[in-house]
Amino acid sequence: MGKFPIADARISQIWICKKCKSRNKRGVEKCRKCGYKYLRPKRKDIRAKK
Ligand SMILES: [Zn+2]
Repeated sequence: MGKFPIADARISQIWICKKCKSRNKRGVEKCRKCGYKYLRPKRKDIRAKK
């Protein structure tokens, strides 16, 4: 919705662990929680912008 543009900017810098779904900072090589190496960027899946 673009309600929180700052939050959007932050979300774009969050990576989600594919295993435990925990949030990690962008640029980390592995999950800080479980150590899983495969992270996916959390970006436009939240803001359903046209
Ligand atoms: Zn994890």
